[in-house]
Amino acid sequence: MSALEIARTQYRALRLNAIGHNLVDLVARAEAGELSYLDFAHLLAEHELAERASTRIERHRRASGLPTGKYLEGFDYRHQTTISKRQVNTLLDFSFIDNRENIIFIGPPGVGKTHLAIGIGHKAVASGYKVLFRTALDLVEDLELAEMKGELKKRINQLAKFDLLVIDELGYLPMTPQARFNLFQLVNTLYEYRSIILTTNKGFADWGAFFHHDNVAIPIIDRIIHHSNVFMLGGESYRLRQKMPE
Ligand code: ADP
Ligand code: MG
Repeated sequence: MSALEIARTQYRALRLNAIGHNLVDLVARAEAGELSYLDFAHLLAEHELAERASTRIERHRRASGLPTGKYLEGFDYRHQTTISKRQVNTLLDFSFIDNRENIIFIGPPGVGKTHLAIGIGHKAVASGYKVLFRTALDLVEDLELAEMKGELKKRINQLAKFDLLVIDELGYLPMTPQARFNLFQLVNTLYEYRSIILTTNKGFADWGAFFHHDNVAIPIIDRIIHHSNVFMLGGESYRLRQKMPE
């Protein structure tokens, strides 16, 4: 075996796969740049760390369930004027996640709530956060299934591993008392511990009725709204506008 092959095998054995994989190139860069031994040592470590970070982000992206194709870059603020680009950009330092705050987008159908929630979710993934996107319907089903298996607590703990949970379209379909209770358990676990982005067509005045004013209604609403950034979106449906002749 050549010295190169031996070194590669050794790096792989040490699980430093990125270095092992790119050793020829890294050595060439060191030679071309006349790097000192110390700088070369840095170069190797940096290469491994950078590769691991991007592999991790790619893994988070796949696990996020975030739909592709909806990005903030494609959001048109000339159409949606009830929120500004600046307001959205302010969220992208992700202090809201670090501070365990929530974001709530409220508004009628088609005004871009889901698009914004997904777009922010993608940016959070790119910044290294673990994000999970679920429609409220899927989430409720997911919890219901876990509850039937006697694994509600376990499932909620799995969901609480994500830094940010995007819950899309709460309020469109009614929920059973059990579903409301399960959701309460989730929200209670996440409260002041993880962040939620919620999109809903229901204004706060309608939330009580949506949760049937039962004993979990107020605690759920309380916990979601406390420490939250609320954006009331209005305007015309983007879907309808696209179907209108100019
Ligand atoms: P909502 O969740 O408020 O019902 P969506 O975010 O699903 O609305 O938006 C409906 C459709 O219109 C989606 O395809 C979305 O990408 C698009 N859309 C809505 N608002 C905008 C906007 N301001 N710029 C670009 N696309 C938009
Ligand atoms: Mg939506």
